[in-house]
Amino acid sequence: MSDLTRRALLAGTVTAAAAASSVPSILPARAAAPAAGRQVPGIYRYKVGEFELTAINDGVNLRPVEKGFVVNAELEDVKEALEDAYLPTDKLGIPFNQLIVNTGRRVVLIDTGTGGQQAPTAGLLIENMAAAGIDPKAIDTVLISHFHGDHILGLRTKEGELAFPNAEVQVPEAEWKYWMDDGEMSRAPEGRKGNFAAVRKTFGSIAKDVKHFDADAEVVPGITAVAAYGHTPGHMTFRIASGDDQLLVLSDTANHPALFVRNPGWHAVFDIDAAMAEETRRKIFDMAAADRLRIQAYHFPFPGTGFIAKDGDGYEFVPAPWSVVL
Ligand SMILES: [Zn+2]
Repeated sequence: MSDLTRRALLAGTVTAAAAASSVPSILPARAAAPAAGRQVPGIYRYKVGEFELTAINDGVNLRPVEKGFVVNAELEDVKEALEDAYLPTDKLGIPFNQLIVNTGRRVVLIDTGTGGQQAPTAGLLIENMAAAGIDPKAIDTVLISHFHGDHILGLRTKEGELAFPNAEVQVPEAEWKYWMDDGEMSRAPEGRKGNFAAVRKTFGSIAKDVKHFDADAEVVPGITAVAAYGHTPGHMTFRIASGDDQLLVLSDTANHPALFVRNPGWHAVFDIDAAMAEETRRKIFDMAAADRLRIQAYHFPFPGTGFIAKDGDGYEFVPAPWSVVL
């Protein structure tokens, strides 16, 4: 193309005849649409009875798939399981999914995400809540399933302020007992010491206001804590019931389903008592499959809600279809 013609084209002054003769492939001008370059907000809404639930994605941790991630499986078997699920075999995207339950009387947030302190690709909870039209000040109850950093750090902003200033914070008594115990901290393996520090940093200054609950407690009308020990000493799931409808919030009963739902006997490196975690996982999955119980899970691909079906020696996660109808 000659300079003259190109300049004319750029200036939009080329004539139709000139365009047709010299640059036949040029299409009529259209408005430029620059690529957004980022994902749309991770929010998904559905109902359980009269309760309105909003799953919110805090982001994802892209974890290298290395020996030791599944402590009792060969790396090549782990990679094969990922390949069977059409996932990359070098890095596993582990999502962080919080759940907000509007019971009509209370607005309850279950787990608080990473607070942007665990992975550069996470920390989106507050931003995604805004996209869902939910003000952090409107949260009146925060329920914590267990004290791993990706579930508690979002209770505070990066500056250390409380992210949900009007919320009553409720935590499992057995988690508090374990993680706040100086003896447990001193006996813990090196790799876990940072988690003890994070627990103290998160709850220390509000310790007297934090409410503790035991298994089987109805923590909020319609939401009951159900013991799921093993992943951590006081790890809890939550049964949400409204009318005849119910749902089980699995928390970390299983990490990514391509690995740990397919292979419930596999132990993720995060489990503190892996044998107990496996026993819990099988028991809960058997119950969920038999009862066709809808579940919501913290580390399943967003929005992480669906069903658990029995499949040979393992199980299959069956995602609920996206629905425009609440
Ligand atoms: Zn977790």
